[in-house]
Amino acid sequence: MPVTPVLGRTAAFAALYLVMSYLGRMTMIDKSSLSLVWPAAGVAVLWFLAQRHAGRLRWLDVAVFSAATFSVNVVTGASAMLATSFVLANLTQVGVFLLLFRQLLPEVWRAPGWGRLDRVRDMWMLLLIATLSTACGTAVGPTAVWLLGGQWTWMSAAVWMIRNVVSIVLIGAVGIRLSYLFGARGPRAPSALRQLLRGANAWKILEVVALIGVSAAAYVVAFALNHGLPLAFPLLTVTVWAGLRFGTTLVVLHGLFTGAAVVLFTLNGHGPFATIELPAVRAVVAQVFVGLVAIVGLLIALGRDERDALVQRLATAEKAASRQARLLSTIVNSMNDGLAVVDARGRFFMSNPATRRLLGWADDPSDVFSSGHGVLHPDGSPVSAQEMPHRRALAGETVEGMDMLVRNPDGGESRMLNISAIPLPSAEGDRAIVVLHDVTAERRHRDELASFAGVVSHDLLNPLTTMEGWTDILADTITEDLCAEDTEQIKASITRIKRATARMRNLIQDLLAHTTARDAAIAPVPVSLNDVVEDVVTARSDMPGGHTPRFHLGDLHAVQADPALLRQLMDNLIGNAVKYTAPGSTPEVTVTSCPQDPDLVRVEVADRGIGIPPGQHEVIFENFHRAHAKAGYTGSGLGLAICKRIVERHGGTIGVEDNPGGGSLFHFTLPAAHADPPSPESRRTASSRERENPRPEP
Ligand code: ADP
Repeated sequence: MPVTPVLGRTAAFAALYLVMSYLGRMTMIDKSSLSLVWPAAGVAVLWFLAQRHAGRLRWLDVAVFSAATFSVNVVTGASAMLATSFVLANLTQVGVFLLLFRQLLPEVWRAPGWGRLDRVRDMWMLLLIATLSTACGTAVGPTAVWLLGGQWTWMSAAVWMIRNVVSIVLIGAVGIRLSYLFGARGPRAPSALRQLLRGANAWKILEVVALIGVSAAAYVVAFALNHGLPLAFPLLTVTVWAGLRFGTTLVVLHGLFTGAAVVLFTLNGHGPFATIELPAVRAVVAQVFVGLVAIVGLLIALGRDERDALVQRLATAEKAASRQARLLSTIVNSMNDGLAVVDARGRFFMSNPATRRLLGWADDPSDVFSSGHGVLHPDGSPVSAQEMPHRRALAGETVEGMDMLVRNPDGGESRMLNISAIPLPSAEGDRAIVVLHDVTAERRHRDELASFAGVVSHDLLNPLTTMEGWTDILADTITEDLCAEDTEQIKASITRIKRATARMRNLIQDLLAHTTARDAAIAPVPVSLNDVVEDVVTARSDMPGGHTPRFHLGDLHAVQADPALLRQLMDNLIGNAVKYTAPGSTPEVTVTSCPQDPDLVRVEVADRGIGIPPGQHEVIFENFHRAHAKAGYTGSGLGLAICKRIVERHGGTIGVEDNPGGGSLFHFTLPAAHADPPSPESRRTASSRERENPRPEP
């Protein structure tokens, strides 16, 4: 901290303190050595508050303060011993004040200038600190007077106590408010005036002139012209007026001047308190009156300041909130995606224009959600009320990206919407946020691509069959007239061509199956899972080469499924279980099922094969993902994607986990059969028909 301002403050406060101490000593009661009024106590606390960040230079203030106290007392007739004890009493008082102030008013302590005082709580704290520190000073001062030959009376202690408390509260509050008003960097006259008057217009200036005039008149009437009447209490009204209408600083200044007037009049034998016989009691009563008036004014002004600050904070917060709300509503209204808040009855509590555009229900788009009419699954099946995304979200579920076909009630084109919904619990009851994303063009494009792939794959099979046929014929026509070396070379080439065409056929068939699983309309009927698995197992057991797999089949539950797709699902899973076995070992496959929920059957296909590498248990269900491609296992990476699609189209879920003891365990759920499955014969017919014509239905 720069030295010059610190020293400047020391000099200024020392001068003020000397003047105030001298004035205080002028109010001394004869022979008692005790002053009736002690404004220097307030100046002292301001002095040390102003210098609270002065570091080591504070000791200079302590020295100057002690010297000033000592000299004023000696000059005004106190003995050296008495003056020393007054120095001790004042130092104790100021020390305790600073200690308590720092602890109990840390925010005021840390504020710039001499601190801040702008809350009612701060005012009460200041009063408490002043009382406690003065009590400590009282324990030293009047006691020293008594020890040095005077007499100790309750009255002298009360005079010391009250004069110092009033002085600290009044002068302390004035000083803190003034330093706050003018700031640490010098006065800012216009804003200071505005703060003083709470507005600086002509009316306010006129009003403050009126306040000064009325106050002066009231105090002169009550104290100078009054003939013994106890007319002090009406004076409170001018303080209340000041407290209600003007800034806190002006209110404390008003209190300071009226207080000084009360004390001066009383000491000179005028006014309602002058009738009291004992001068000490007279001084105490006058100062209690001054203190009370000052505190009432301050409390009114600070209470009002606090309320104003609160109202202003509220207004600012309200403005910020409405700005934020405007911004949000602009964003929401300009979104291409529909956004709606749905209440528990399925009505739209709030929706943006895109929602109405996407749902296309001119009058009330809520109808689409509350009634569920015109809302279909992508395959054309109706969506039940429980399946509606907003219902699921209202039940606490988070719905992510559910495709739904929304019919246009005016006969226009239907839209494919991808709908997400999340629960939104609110004080007004359960609500859900629904987001609608139009994927009509995207899905159409994807479907077109998939059908194109299906058509291309199917059409590729013809030339491939031709190539295979001609390769076979070529292999048969290799005659003996070629030399042995040539024959071997040609046979090796033909074998390679055959392997390549076989791989191509598998890939094309997988692509076709994928398209079928994705697009073909499913026709679920009760199917005996036992029969389907039996079929697949027989075919797999008959396959040439390698070790004959060992199958362990449980008694499987009947399911409600499309027979052709179910066969494909089981064939893929059992085929993989056989394929992904370490070379040289016998594949072991176990197929079991159990009921899960009243309406679902859980099926498990477990093997003792090479297992799934860690971290790939989910990605293997994606198109073309192959976890063991490098190990030499052939495949297209489409089999499990087809399985997933088939299971999901039946409303089930599929997953895989490591089989305890080695291998993998695939599990999936399908709806349980409601009726007895039809005879195997009829099922086989349906199944073979599907194999003959794998091309997706248009
Ligand atoms: P692929 O045509 O490669 O068999 P799939 O989609 O059927 O394609 O399987 C994807 C990948 O999952 C396979 O490449 C393989 O790495 C892994 N996988 C599938 N089934 C099993 C299994 N039973 N045991 C170990 N890994 C398997």
